[in-house]
Amino acid sequence: MIKQTLKEWREEATKRFGKDANNWVFKCPHCGRINTVKEFTEAGADGSSSPYQECIGRYKKGYGCDWAAYGLFGNLGKGRVVVTPEGKEIEVFDFADKEDV
Ligand SMILES: [Zn+2]
Repeated sequence: MIKQTLKEWREEATKRFGKDANNWVFKCPHCGRINTVKEFTEAGADGSSSPYQECIGRYKKGYGCDWAAYGLFGNLGKGRVVVTPEGKEIEVFDFADKEDV
């Protein structure tokens, strides 16, 4: 699994998708669905939701699944580990390719 600092992770996301976080896309390790940040906003998810850690099914019925990377099984070894400035390691979903959306 790729392990990177929060700064590196943000830099990579910006390089892949641009500065606007609404354009960032992530792949659910459980069902394989590509989730966009924008979709989360449209589904009415509040600010505490994290598209890089949760599948859209938690907010939008009939789509994706309800997987969360902060759950017992993390991201099933298919995502990334981000290290916060405090040294905390957080499992997140992997980035998706923009072409997959
Ligand atoms: Zn899913």
